[in-house]
Amino acid sequence: MMALVSREFHMFNAAGKSFLYLVPSAAIFALDEATSAVLRVVSESKSGEDAVVASLANRFEPDVVRAAIGELTEVRAIGYEHQPEAVVPRMLPMMPFPLNTMVLNVTNQCNLACTYCYEYGEDKIVDTAHGKQAKFMTEETARESVDFLLRESGRLAHMTFFGGETLLNFPVLQSTIAYARRRAADEGKEIDFSLTTNATLLRPDIIEFLAENRVGVTISIDGPREMQDKFRVFHNGAGSYDVVAPKIKELLRRHRSRPIGARVTLTSDTLDITRIYKHLTEEIGFWEVGFAPVTTSPQQHYAIGEQGFDRMLDQFRRLAREFTDHVAENRHHGFSNVKDTLEEIHKGVSKAYPCGAGLGLLGVSTDGDVALCHRFAGSDAHKFGTVRDGIDRGAQSAFLEQHHIADKTDCSKCWARPLCSGGCYHEAHVRYGSTGHPNLHYCEWIRGWTETCLEIYGELSERNPEFLARFDREEAKAEAAI
Ligand code: SF4
Ligand code: SF4
Repeated sequence: MMALVSREFHMFNAAGKSFLYLVPSAAIFALDEATSAVLRVVSESKSGEDAVVASLANRFEPDVVRAAIGELTEVRAIGYEHQPEAVVPRMLPMMPFPLNTMVLNVTNQCNLACTYCYEYGEDKIVDTAHGKQAKFMTEETARESVDFLLRESGRLAHMTFFGGETLLNFPVLQSTIAYARRRAADEGKEIDFSLTTNATLLRPDIIEFLAENRVGVTISIDGPREMQDKFRVFHNGAGSYDVVAPKIKELLRRHRSRPIGARVTLTSDTLDITRIYKHLTEEIGFWEVGFAPVTTSPQQHYAIGEQGFDRMLDQFRRLAREFTDHVAENRHHGFSNVKDTLEEIHKGVSKAYPCGAGLGLLGVSTDGDVALCHRFAGSDAHKFGTVRDGIDRGAQSAFLEQHHIADKTDCSKCWARPLCSGGCYHEAHVRYGSTGHPNLHYCEWIRGWTETCLEIYGELSERNPEFLARFDREEAKAEAAI
């Protein structure tokens, strides 16, 4: 009799039940008593089917055990010893891959000098002070970028304005949106706009424009005054909280056509996530808050080290608990890190690449060079063509060839790889000098956080499955637009 062996999965418990996260397929399988018992027997020792039936004879009928074995082999949680494990093929994306999101760096200048910013210090990839790139994008380059996006996109195109401080080049942003709308209508395509800003330059007329044009806005802000002013300072060292808080409140009051989100950069000195979240949602009024740990050289005192990751995970988990309880009762909660991960889990995302950079997402520098993403915009080493000449398909294919998860041997046995896929290229470049290197410094954090999100997923599948089903409807809507 052939022996049964367990395959690659990660087990987790939620709502008093056991679940399997099946790594090769990124699917979730809820265990009942019989499948749970079979899995335990097979995981403890290699056993033939008859031996498994015999060992569970005091608890289950033979037919029930055989059915459970059948289900577990079908989802590949277990398999017969001689059968090879399912290998996920090393499939490269079909080319040309449609460009979904273009991030336009309309300026590389900033009126703040945030201590941790990747534009400064050791994290800098492009010399924006003395380098060859223009400091501001011209109207002409922005128009060429729109034409480029509409040439390369499917029916729906996203255009994101970025900086430096994006609003330092508001006139170009304004004329580009008008031009893009006209051009998209000519092409029979839909175009959507968003931007990221530090909020210092939000004047009433700018707010009016953003609201009228339904521009999605993300504000970079770190929390209450003492946290914001620790790192988010003007060039003279003055804190920015008192400048931005009233402007953000005015934006939130006036701009109701789309939810406005905050993006918080977390450092080892500002890790009080619950307090930051409460301040930004309850006192300022943001709909959503997303947190990103600082991506910087480990030597910097504000970089989050190993102990910081533990503390951060603990804080994330507390806020995630609050999220779960809210959502279970059909109440809104704006902790976007959880929502984004739940959506990926629900869709069974198994990433060959950590993010869309170089694939459905590209960054454009002030001069119109096309790059891997906004963080690499203007870097010759990460250039993928120009908006005038189009995407350099050779460079793009070579990049995708070299960065596939199948080639990241450190990740090959990691159960979190369907969602992590090695992590951000920019962070890898800063930490290890190579975009292809997995971000091994934060594996424990990633696995801990993924486990938490799986547990929340399991719990919500019991307490509010309708919340998860909404992701299907949103996906169907997005697919219809492609
Ligand atoms: S970087 Fe770490 S956590 Fe991410 S897939 Fe690789 S081994 Fe897993
Ligand atoms: S490489 Fe990093 S910064 Fe660039 S899009 Fe991907 S996750 Fe974001």
